[in-house]
Amino acid sequence: MNLNQQYLTLTENYLFSTINHKVAQYQQKHADTKIIRLGIGDVTKPLAPAIIEALHEAVAEQGQESQFHGYGPEQGYDFLRQAIQEHYQKNYSVALAIDEIFVSDGAKSDLGNVLDLFSVDNVVLIPDPVYPVYVDTNKMAGRSIVYLTGNRENHFLPMPDHNMTADIIYLCSPNNPTGAVYNREQLKAWVDFARQKEAIILFDSAYEAFIDDPALPRSIFEIEGSKECAIEFCSLSKTAGFTGTRCGYTIVPKALIRNEQSLNQWWLRRQTTKFNGVSYIVQKGAAAVFTPQGQQQIKADIAYYQENARLITNCLDELSIYYTGGIQSPYIWLECPVAMDSWAFFDYLLTKAQIVGTPGAGFGQSGERYFRLSAFGKRDDIMEAIARLKKIWQ
Ligand code: PLP
Repeated sequence: MNLNQQYLTLTENYLFSTINHKVAQYQQKHADTKIIRLGIGDVTKPLAPAIIEALHEAVAEQGQESQFHGYGPEQGYDFLRQAIQEHYQKNYSVALAIDEIFVSDGAKSDLGNVLDLFSVDNVVLIPDPVYPVYVDTNKMAGRSIVYLTGNRENHFLPMPDHNMTADIIYLCSPNNPTGAVYNREQLKAWVDFARQKEAIILFDSAYEAFIDDPALPRSIFEIEGSKECAIEFCSLSKTAGFTGTRCGYTIVPKALIRNEQSLNQWWLRRQTTKFNGVSYIVQKGAAAVFTPQGQQQIKADIAYYQENARLITNCLDELSIYYTGGIQSPYIWLECPVAMDSWAFFDYLLTKAQIVGTPGAGFGQSGERYFRLSAFGKRDDIMEAIARLKKIWQ
């Protein structure tokens, strides 16, 4: 019996446990102080009424013999896949076949599971800083990773270099943690690069709902040629508050062919073998997201977070602090003051202003001098945090 030795290459994920430990220690010594948490990227608003109503109805159906649903299709019920298909057509002018849409329990699972389709000897390009799951899932499989450095010079939007070898390319737009968003020309350059290298882009659009500038692409399939080289991972977690309810969807185009094999068929084969599908009840709730009423309600919640982000970025503008994100994204990525790395700044903010954020080092080496604030908090907390920031900075 041999274990997968690649697990030994993983660095222990101490990020949030270290944060929690430091916050608990501080709170113990300062029991009366209110600590404002702008660290974790979880939503704070409850599910919208249209979703709750649909969930209730589905629960009732499951209690009636004539309407009961047992094992469902692993790739999702047609009522939800159709709603997603219409959403792509209406909002992105992207035509999808229903069997290009795979319903999942969220983007994280599919981003990890998709690696089942690829050989371990592929060269993987991963932006740095970025959502750490891409790095860890590839390390678990023993793939070699080439990092694409994001920095102030490239506005945290690394671009392809034609001298690079690439088989699998991760793109995350809007990016977690930097909030940076690729424009059409930039995504087109990535699509052209991927096609030239016969690479596959794994496009994570978990935060697409925060883009409200029509000039910016919300789906990679808005870019010509992308169906021959990309898979898109979408999530209702941040779009509709499904972090605890769990539902997402992945688009694998039928035009995506490598070594004469259809990736769409391979993904279907993988999912029907290893995935049980999302529960009928949750899929009913998810379908309500795409109704006119559901869209209106989730957009109001997103607008609330966007206003939070705007208030934070206004404050940073006033204080002349460099940042990215916050405009088409729930994350604000700010530069730490000179001579402070991201953990030193974490300690500084906690002790001087009792604000908790996330040190950039937790998202890769290029995050060492940066810090992430999340706009998913409550308005009063955001206002209080802004007042405290102004006090310590001025
Ligand atoms: N992708 C990115 C960039 C994320 O930041 C997150 C969650 O924070 C996810 C995917 C995970 O999404 P889900 O909740 O759908 O698994």
